[in-house]
Amino acid sequence: MRLRFIVAPLLKWFAENARDLPWRRTRDPYAIWVSEIMLQQTQVKTVIPYWERWMNRLPDVAALANAREDTVIKLWEGLGYYSRARNMQKAARLIRDEHGGRFPRDLAGVLALPGVGRYTGGAICSIAYNQPEPIVDGNVIRVLTRVAGIEESPKAKPVLEQIWAIADDLVKQTVARQQSCQRNASAFNQAMMELGALVCTPRNPRCDVCPLKGRCVARKENKTDRIPALAKRAAATKRRYVGFAILWRGKVFVQRRPDGVVNAGYWEFPNWEVAADAEPAALAKGNLSLGQVELEPLCVVNHSITRYRNRLEMFVIRAARKPRLAKLGGEWLPLAKLDEIPLTAAHRKVAGRLLDAEKC
Ligand code: SF4
Repeated sequence: MRLRFIVAPLLKWFAENARDLPWRRTRDPYAIWVSEIMLQQTQVKTVIPYWERWMNRLPDVAALANAREDTVIKLWEGLGYYSRARNMQKAARLIRDEHGGRFPRDLAGVLALPGVGRYTGGAICSIAYNQPEPIVDGNVIRVLTRVAGIEESPKAKPVLEQIWAIADDLVKQTVARQQSCQRNASAFNQAMMELGALVCTPRNPRCDVCPLKGRCVARKENKTDRIPALAKRAAATKRRYVGFAILWRGKVFVQRRPDGVVNAGYWEFPNWEVAADAEPAALAKGNLSLGQVELEPLCVVNHSITRYRNRLEMFVIRAARKPRLAKLGGEWLPLAKLDEIPLTAAHRKVAGRLLDAEKC
C-alpha cells in the first residue's frame, strides 16, 4: 500500500507548525539519541528539563562514558524505566572503546548499541543524518492506520510489518523530492510524529485542522474511534508495600537496590511487599529485629508502574540506640543528604515528606 500523497502536505504542515524543541536545534546524534530515549513513554513537556540538565552535565559521549553511575542515574531520577539510563552509559562506553568516541553513522552500527531498537535507530539516522530510514512508534501507527483505513490490529506482526513498509516507502519518497539544502527524511519522520502528538491524537483527533483530512479513510468513514484497533489493556493489579524510615541521631537508614533487579542502583527506604491484611508492627518486629518499637505514620504514596497500582505505606521509627541492620545491607545517611542520592519516584516523595516532617 502506498500513501505517497501525504508527503507534500505533511512536509508543508510541519514547516509551519513544528514545535520549537531544544533537541530540534541540533543535528548532534548524541543529543538526538538522548532525547529519543527520554521521550519513550514520556511527554515532551516532562522531558525538556531532564534533557537540558543532562546535556549540561553530560554534553557528549565521552562525558557520559566517563561519568560515575550515580551521576547518570541521578540525572534520570523521576523518568522511570531506569534501565534505559544504564543502557545509555553502556552504549557510550562502547562508542568510546570501539568507535574511537564517534557516534556510529550507519543504521547497523546504531542498532548495535545497547538499548537501541528499530524505532530509535531509525529516528537517530533520519533526524541526525537525514538518512531515509523509517520510524514507527505509537504516533506513526495512529496516523498511518487512520489515513490508510487499516482496521486490523497493529499488534499483529503482519500488520505491523505492513506499517513499517509504508513508512519505509514514504521516507524514501521524501528524499526523491528533496532539493539542495533540504532535509526531508528528517523533517518527514518528525512531521508524522508531530501530527500524531498534536492533531491525530488517540481521542478526539482534530481532523478539521489536519493537512491529510481530504484523503483520510478513518475520517471519511467516521472510524477514528476504532482505528487503530488496540487491544484492551490488561486489568490493573493492586500491590501493597510497607516501609520504614528508621531514624537515629539525625541519620536515616537507606538501601541501594542491587544489580540485576528493577531500578538497580537507586536507593530506597527498607520496604516489603505484604498481604492486604499484614500488620506493619509485626513486619517491623520480624524484619528489622528492633524489638518493640513505636511506628509513626508518615505518608502513603500511590504510584503506578505498567499495570501495577502500588500503595506504599511509610512509617517513621525513632531509635534510641543504633539499630543493628547489617543484614539489610544498607547505610546510615545524614537526613540532609537525601537530596543528593538517586531515589526512585515513590521514595523521592517519601523523602520529601520526611524532610518536611523533620524540618530539614
Ligand atoms: S484526518 Fe483526522 S484521523 Fe485522519 S490523519 Fe488527520 S487527524 Fe488523523
